[in-house]
Amino acid sequence: TQLPADPILENTRRQVENACFSYVTPKQTQKPELLHVSPEMLENVGLSEVDAQSDAFLKVFTGNQVLENTKPFAMCYGGHQFGNWAGQLGDGRAINLFEVEHQNKHWALQLKGAGETPYSRTADGLAVLRSSIREYLCSEAMFHLGVPTTRALSLALSGDQVMRDMLYDGNQAYEKGAIVTRVAPSFLRFGSFQILAARGDVDTLKTLTDYTISSFFSHLGKPSKATYLNFFQEVTTRTLKMIIDWQRVGFVHGVMNTDNMSILGLTIDYGPYGWLEDFDFGWTPNTTDRQHKRYRYGNQPNMGLWNLYQLANALYPLVEDVEPLQAILDAYQSEFDTQSLAMMRKKLGLSKADENDAILFQKLEENLQLTETDMTIFFRSLSHFSFKKPSEGINVVKDAFYNLNEVENGVEQQWETWFKDYAKRLEDENLSVEIRKNQMHSVNPKYVLRNYMAQLAIDDANKGDYKLIDQLFQLLKKPYDEQPENEKWFAKRPEWARHKVGCSM
Ligand code: AMP
Ligand code: MG
Ligand code: MG
Repeated sequence: TQLPADPILENTRRQVENACFSYVTPKQTQKPELLHVSPEMLENVGLSEVDAQSDAFLKVFTGNQVLENTKPFAMCYGGHQFGNWAGQLGDGRAINLFEVEHQNKHWALQLKGAGETPYSRTADGLAVLRSSIREYLCSEAMFHLGVPTTRALSLALSGDQVMRDMLYDGNQAYEKGAIVTRVAPSFLRFGSFQILAARGDVDTLKTLTDYTISSFFSHLGKPSKATYLNFFQEVTTRTLKMIIDWQRVGFVHGVMNTDNMSILGLTIDYGPYGWLEDFDFGWTPNTTDRQHKRYRYGNQPNMGLWNLYQLANALYPLVEDVEPLQAILDAYQSEFDTQSLAMMRKKLGLSKADENDAILFQKLEENLQLTETDMTIFFRSLSHFSFKKPSEGINVVKDAFYNLNEVENGVEQQWETWFKDYAKRLEDENLSVEIRKNQMHSVNPKYVLRNYMAQLAIDDANKGDYKLIDQLFQLLKKPYDEQPENEKWFAKRPEWARHKVGCSM
């Protein structure tokens, strides 16, 4: 066996073989400053609000102090980026600090943006305030939406300046450096398994898979070929569920590379993600993917399957049998269709299944794309529709249309037809109006982190004003509730934000 490299003397960029991680030491920063802490995550990891105000908390969660008896490390993984095998990637700017057990739950805490690691390749290991705010707010918001996700404990400034290329003018500029503490039971990715398979390192692949199963899938039992298959089945099931949730709330991940696919089926790596404003299967927030739009909203289910194929290939050396792996992958499509129908029924407040549902939903999705129609506002408003008044349909959802004239002058007919069909369908249900409304409200959020909202918080933060970060954080804790004082966030994207997109670095 090889001794691990010295974390201080040998923290150099390199290929890391026969190992799953490398010890590293986070970078000391100029003037660390906490901007926000998640009270829910504090509690989850067994810390108090008083702890969060301590100097030790600030230092530990900005990488300026390493707790005694802990050994921070960065993980080795590979991945397919935009369909191509990219070899070793790894935690180029993430450093795992330690893991905690609290209330029978297991959490790994990791810093994002705390300096270079052996996996930093040509980049600096740092993160800027802009992308850190986006990750911090969105990952907690996703949790409260009920979408499986990594979490965030804290958002801090490093006090250092970070150099970045500007997307719009091609120049370089300094931005404020920041560090987010991310939290999850594990940060293992599909790519963690792929890199070992790609190198033909079956011993380490088996060690990692057995560790993953005994730590996070222990109900599957002792390692065996059957257990590996059950493991793959469960990763498939979880991944599918996560993507159904993305489709339900209109979340577009933007970089579904296999290194960004969590083995636990959690949403991970909040880079250039975005939220659908106008409903559009073809939309991607990722400006580097505008040509092929591989990771567009409507393609996320397919990309989930494509990624699972790559994971199946990686696990093959442990299973040595193609057919059962293939069978699991084959079932994904039909399972996806079934669950997708069930999800749409819930969004529309339908409790019974009908053989014509698929057509009803398809017509709806076509209509939603006839003219710019805000997804969140549409589905939230739909609960006010009464099957006794089908002709009122357009009026009920009119706030969702970016340009109501376009509806009146062209696509009114299609909508009227659809509302008639929907009314008929609702008539067959025996739900009370009130119960249906509550059910619809529990799956159709009123508040999501629209791209422009994050941008407003970023603009303020760059000027040293962090109030909006907290306001949005509080708002997004109750995305399904009516919040009369926050009605201004239940609104269409303003015109200035039309072509603004998130960016990741
Ligand atoms: P992503 O597209 O965010 O999934 O990143 C792809 C790879 O690039 C991962 O291995 C990241 O760790 C690495 N990476 C991204 N940004 C940086 C950075 N600023 N410094 C070092 N590595 C980075
Ligand atoms: Mg990544
Ligand atoms: Mg990223």
